[in-house]
Amino acid sequence: MSIVSVINQKGGVAKTTTALNVASSWAKQGKRVLLIDLDPQSSATKAVFGDQDFECTIYDVMMNQKQVEEVIVSSDRFGFDMIPAEILLSGIDIQLAAYFGREGILRRKLEPINRSYDCIIIDCSPSLGLMTVNALIASKDIIIPICPEYFSMKGIDLILSTLQSIRTGLGHKVGVRGVVITRYRDRKIAKEVIRQVREQYGLRVFDNYIPDNIAVEEAHHMHFPVYIHAPTSPAASAYMELAKEML
Ligand code: ADP
Ligand code: MG
Repeated sequence: MSIVSVINQKGGVAKTTTALNVASSWAKQGKRVLLIDLDPQSSATKAVFGDQDFECTIYDVMMNQKQVEEVIVSSDRFGFDMIPAEILLSGIDIQLAAYFGREGILRRKLEPINRSYDCIIIDCSPSLGLMTVNALIASKDIIIPICPEYFSMKGIDLILSTLQSIRTGLGHKVGVRGVVITRYRDRKIAKEVIRQVREQYGLRVFDNYIPDNIAVEEAHHMHFPVYIHAPTSPAASAYMELAKEML
């Protein structure tokens, strides 16, 4: 079992899309997968379950009102189990401000179910607040999705320095499994960004870039993984191959 977080404090770089489609591809490949939504905006929860409201979410687990087993729901379509999020998560930094050991809550809460899954993937919010720190402390490593453009490097700098402070401040070492290139279009800037990530930062860039493809957005709105919604689309095969490459 391994826990991986999908992180980038920039919004709209396809964190949620990547978490959902990689998780469902792993499930299709026979893995037992749990996806945890840690974003107060609940994009992953909504993409999977539509407007369905959940009484129990990761918020209740964080606030010690529910055990983790009580908040897990399954999706047949996506083939994975999921822990939903809700908007109350947006206030959690303040609610837990005085709680000793607040950075390690998620890690401790996941311990009883670790062995029930082959992969646990965490979809983080576009911030580096307490929930993201909890995700990092729970994770062995991270995946960084980027949409290659002029300012992509700034984001990577910030993530790497966050990993460094988690290491020095909290004594937990988190690795970078790799960088995922999302919404790829064959442009000069994309090639330049990819080269810099490899050469300047020495990070692994996964070989399977995810093309900019309308099928991704359609699948999202239809509440399907892209490999079911549009099996022959370039994004479906890219996510399937990426999922294998990531394991
Ligand atoms: P984040 O979680 O980083 O904020 P999302 O996964 O929500 O980003 O994606 C932002 C938007 O971009 C969504 O509307 C999504 O459908 C769209 N999108 C993501 N990946 C692709 C892609 N490969 N092609 C086209 N649209 C995409
Ligand atoms: Mg998101």
